[in-house]
Amino acid sequence: MTLAQARGPHSAPLGDPRLRSVKVRFAASPTGSLHIGKALGAVVNRNFGRTFLLRIDDTDPARDVEGGEQAVLEDLRWLGLGWDEGPVRQSDRGDRYREAAAGLPERFQGVRLRQPDGSATYQLASVVDDIDFGITHVIRGSDHRPNEPLHRALTEALGATAPEYIHLGLILRPDGKQLSRRSEGASVASLRDAGIPPEAVRRYLEELGTPRHDVHLDLARIRSLAVEALDEARQPAASILEPPSVSLPGERETLERFRELRAGANGALDKEAAKAILRELKAVGGNLRAVRRRLTGRESGPELWSVLAALPREETLRRIDAAL
Ligand code: GLU
Repeated sequence: MTLAQARGPHSAPLGDPRLRSVKVRFAASPTGSLHIGKALGAVVNRNFGRTFLLRIDDTDPARDVEGGEQAVLEDLRWLGLGWDEGPVRQSDRGDRYREAAAGLPERFQGVRLRQPDGSATYQLASVVDDIDFGITHVIRGSDHRPNEPLHRALTEALGATAPEYIHLGLILRPDGKQLSRRSEGASVASLRDAGIPPEAVRRYLEELGTPRHDVHLDLARIRSLAVEALDEARQPAASILEPPSVSLPGERETLERFRELRAGANGALDKEAAKAILRELKAVGGNLRAVRRRLTGRESGPELWSVLAALPREETLRRIDAAL
């Protein structure tokens, strides 16, 4: 089966037997917030696979970052990418790798299968996991394309049938250079911190589809999707915005204080100014949920400061006054 034949559970009937067995995995090193290219891999896997397994490639202690795994899980949740199985940690599977390696030479096609301390390298661990967890399609960045022949041969040497390998183009900087972790927009956390809502990041990645060639990061496109997502969040839900009276605990006091603070700040708010208002409200015990509901008509959505920054002052006051 190719990607064109089966773009994911949403584009074919759920009972389609071709899809029932598609099992994919997203394998992340616990190195902190996801690189945008890795996030693309997560989105493609999630949309393609019927069953989506999350794997943490933590066999290399040198690359472990404090809180790195947590950051990966947080990014996936933030993007709305739930997993069906896992997280499976490679660090828990040492015995299994040792057992698998027992029948193999120390080097396979010239590549080391074990670290000097005897533990499995990424190459061996990855192949054993893909076999053991019944992965049918390995979808990952094209930086792993050179591994395909080795992974295929190693799988067969272990007596299994190789999965289908699909390699996605990389996301590069606009000038075509590699997008380093520090570049603007290179990690999911940096987009989140810039106030981009998750819907916009996800939509951007879905627009890229399953690129076979490298693509250039388009921050302008991400920003415009962010504005669209914020606009949607601004569509007032009549039932919430026009209730007969205030309803949350502390709501009236919160809204009155919020109105004063917002009225006292001229023009548009930047990130710091918006955050300062929210901090101030919190300090006096304000109910921030009430502010969100009155401004967006919803209970959740983009970070509240970014709503404050996106809404013009007059519109903000109008919505608060309508509630008061
Ligand atoms: N941990 C590897 C990475 O982060 C996973 C590669 C794979 O998907 O096999 O690139």
